[in-house]
Amino acid sequence: EVILSVKNLTAEIDGTPILKGMNLEIKAGETHAIMGPNGSGKSTFSKILAGHPAYTVTGGEVLFRGKDLFELEPHERANSGVFLAFQYPLEIPGVTNVDFLRVSYNAKRKQEGLEELDAFDFDDIVHSKLELLKMDAGFLTRSVNEGFSGGEKKRNEILQMALLEPKLGILDEIDSGLDIDALKVVSQGVNALKTSENAVLMITHYQRLLNYITPDFVHVMADGRILTSGGKELALELEERGYDWVVEGEAVGA
Ligand code: ADP
Ligand code: MG
Ligand code: MG
Repeated sequence: EVILSVKNLTAEIDGTPILKGMNLEIKAGETHAIMGPNGSGKSTFSKILAGHPAYTVTGGEVLFRGKDLFELEPHERANSGVFLAFQYPLEIPGVTNVDFLRVSYNAKRKQEGLEELDAFDFDDIVHSKLELLKMDAGFLTRSVNEGFSGGEKKRNEILQMALLEPKLGILDEIDSGLDIDALKVVSQGVNALKTSENAVLMITHYQRLLNYITPDFVHVMADGRILTSGGKELALELEERGYDWVVEGEAVGA
């Protein structure tokens, strides 16, 4: 099954073109990584997939499981299986994490025609997922992300992903600000969620993350488009040689 099909996607913000013809196809069971220099449009791409209102799509198409993604409102995208883990997760003071998670979990159940779970039933489900991410139950009763360390915020994002079981999990710089132990836990969490039915799109500037979550495909993005693609060995080559050789066109035809 093709989960995501992106063809010639162009987009701008405040009249400035950012995406200049993105092409990408992701099938069920695959893990993809988009790498590239800062400012190449990686986060813009992920935010457009999630439906961030600041960006204007000016051309091309994105199909999610065969349907036009842009016909869905942002919350409908989330509820139908597109999940974006943020580079900078938001803090929501005054809303406890468990309530926040239950609301998003129930929104998805509703979309699927299932009954909403009450706090009791949800508690069992969330506790089973906490273990996966080596998270303390104390996380649940704190305000969403408030006072969480960088690593705790990222784990919390993956906890949400574990609950929602998305068809496409998009992880934007999930490794930024993580020490090696936190990186291992977060990666193990992502790996545990991977099945032959879903897909993961990792976005990262650094190769390090890919030592823990092995991609099937690596794409190099610069100036709003994918310049070259390859297998996991491409990430190692980038680590060694940097991005310039790709950007300057040496990799043309690769
Ligand atoms: P990456 O994630 O690859 O580092 P981004 O998607 O964050 O790149 O940014 C891509 C480009 O879009 C950058 O040149 C950035 O300056 C520009 N950009 C991002 N957001 C805005 C904005 N709100 N207004 C103007 N330019 C923006
Ligand atoms: Mg950046
Ligand atoms: Mg970014």
